[in-house]
This record gives sequence, C-alpha cells and structure tokens, in this order.
Amino acid sequence: MNLAHVLDGLRCASCGTLNALWLDLTRALVECRECGQTALILTDTDEGRSP
Ligand SMILES: [Zn+2]
Repeated sequence: MNLAHVLDGLRCASCGTLNALWLDLTRALVECRECGQTALILTDTDEGRSP
C-alpha cells in the first residue's frame, strides 16, 4: 500500500527543487526526495502567509 503523494507544484524550501516534495501520511510529514528535508504537516498553520 502506497500512502505517499507527490505534491505537484510545490518547491522545496531547502534545496529549491520543484515537484520533489511528497506527503507521507504514515508519518504525517512532508519530505523532499532530493535533499531529505522534512517538515511536519500537523502544526503547519502558516500556509499562504509571509512572516
Ligand atoms: Zn529539498
């Protein structure tokens, strides 16, 4: 069973690679397959906002 979903149109904030991010529902995080950068999705409430 594959619970990973590629996030089309999103760019990695760490390495800048487009379409390299995938959503891992089993671990509730987003991971970049290029640089390995991960980010939890449950606590991300800043989507669409700039600091
Ligand atoms: Zn990356």
